[in-house]
Amino acid sequence: MTTITRFAPSPTGRLHVGNIRTALHNWLLARKQGGRFLLRIDDTDAERSREEYVEAIRADLAWLGLDPDGEERQSERLEKYETAFEALRAAGRVYPAYETAQELELKRKIQLGRGLPPIYDRGALALSAEERAAKEADGIVPHWRFMLDHDEAIVWEDGVRGAQKFDPVQLSDPVIRRADGSWLYMLPSAVDDLDMGVTDVLRGEDHVSNTAVQIQIFTALIAAQYPAQQMPRFAHEALLVGTEGKLSKRLGSLGCDAFRAQGFEPMAIVSLLARLGTSQPVEPFLEMAPLVETFDLSTFGRAPARFDEAELLRLNAQLVHQLPYEAVRGFVPDDFTREAWHAIRPNLEKASEVVEWWQVVTGPVERREFSQDDRAYLSQAADALEWSEQPWQDLTASLKASTGRKGKALFLPLRQALTGRDHGPDMGELLPLIGEARTRERLEAAAHG
Ligand code: GLU
Repeated sequence: MTTITRFAPSPTGRLHVGNIRTALHNWLLARKQGGRFLLRIDDTDAERSREEYVEAIRADLAWLGLDPDGEERQSERLEKYETAFEALRAAGRVYPAYETAQELELKRKIQLGRGLPPIYDRGALALSAEERAAKEADGIVPHWRFMLDHDEAIVWEDGVRGAQKFDPVQLSDPVIRRADGSWLYMLPSAVDDLDMGVTDVLRGEDHVSNTAVQIQIFTALIAAQYPAQQMPRFAHEALLVGTEGKLSKRLGSLGCDAFRAQGFEPMAIVSLLARLGTSQPVEPFLEMAPLVETFDLSTFGRAPARFDEAELLRLNAQLVHQLPYEAVRGFVPDDFTREAWHAIRPNLEKASEVVEWWQVVTGPVERREFSQDDRAYLSQAADALEWSEQPWQDLTASLKASTGRKGKALFLPLRQALTGRDHGPDMGELLPLIGEARTRERLEAAAHG
């Protein structure tokens, strides 16, 4: 059977590290199995869903290289949910409930006050037909709950967490439909997974108890409406936490757009998130292929995975150092050569910083203050300059011999005069790019203050 995975974001915001990771793992799983990866837009919440986020999600996935093999939208599938709802209702698995939010909250408080778990007491099921009719005559429109089967233990073999077991008695019958007829997440998601032949549901650990409930919904739907379909496999990955060990606000807000704006390479994000929290080493990859090849749910750990921005920056730098000239061609000036890229590349954390260094090559550079002694030295350098195959090596060798300077005293004033900076790319590679005329000009300008 072809593996079908799905990534099912609600378009209520930009993708952030947590859901990028889920998308990536679903993509990798599908690619590894030669299967299909679907993008499913969970937009049943019309109030909070925004078209701009749908577009942003598509753009972010494209930027990350996570191309979907198909896209579906829940808002276009409402009749499916209606049909499924009716089938479950006919099978006696959904029932109307009339409690207001305040009443439910009160019940919860009382239960908690008595030290009991806040499980829905099925008060609505105890109503007689007359009582229900009276409520409806009073204008109370019901919402709808799915009735869990209390006699059937919920078990599954989780792809990350191993054997899972839940007692349905400990769970509330989930509300699946609001009084206004709109859908909550539970039913549409299960209908879609069956209808689209999803074989593997891979998502965050925060969905474990949803899965427990959904397993009964899946079972009921298969019996009532989808006899040819099978329950998908489930896997829940451990949550991501920030460096301080908590799911910080900051982590939740680290959006794909911010990574883009900050000049991160998509493959740095992919390389980090693909293996974070697994037993495989995090390494910089320029291509997806080795990550697809090595993707393996059995290497996923159960402890929360720590997302560290410093680690992302390190990976990014390692990737930039390997990036081919072609990768930056789009955002560098026309006269920016392959040699320039190779000279500057080892010095960058982000590829976009190349623009700054190219500015150092082409000038003007920042004018530095030099001591009298250093000005004399730089004047000597201007005189000694002979343009050769290796102008930097030759210049520094001759200055070393003629002045007796060495180390920092020999190199730093030259670097400062030639680049305006204390650090930067290897001068041996940079000087040929700066060229003879600018080199001479900068040395003289520095020498004469
Ligand atoms: N829309 C849900 C979410 O973003 C989907 C969860 C799922 O993968 O089923 O949490």
